[in-house]
Amino acid sequence: MPTIFAKIIRGEIPGDIVYQDELVTAFRDIQPQAPTHILIVPNKAIPTVNDVEEEDEATLGRMIVVAKKLADREGIAKDGYRLIMNTNEHGGQEVFHIHMHLLGGRPLGRMLSR
Ligand code: AMP
Repeated sequence: MPTIFAKIIRGEIPGDIVYQDELVTAFRDIQPQAPTHILIVPNKAIPTVNDVEEEDEATLGRMIVVAKKLADREGIAKDGYRLIMNTNEHGGQEVFHIHMHLLGGRPLGRMLSR
């Protein structure tokens, strides 16, 4: 079954896409946790970070390069931002198509709640 993210990437359901190339797609999170909350997603449907293979290195590198470009475009690069990839239950992963959260636009506090 394709995930909701695969459908957004293929244009089958609407998404607020802010960037797309041959390797990755980025769109705004539907429930933003910060003024900037963008999801950077490989076009290839990799379920979790545990499923990443060596052949995915270029795609994973592209995700970081795109995060940097989008942070600059959003005007949050200088003040700073956070990149998060959640994995499985303890990581709080809800959508099983790997994605990097780009969060910024306000102070984000501690990395983890105690
Ligand atoms: P995670 O918990 O890391 O798997 O994050 C999944 C994220 O996907 C959450 O922040 C959701 O708000 C977001 N999300 C779920 N459905 C959509 C959608 N249709 N468009 C954009 N973001 C979504």
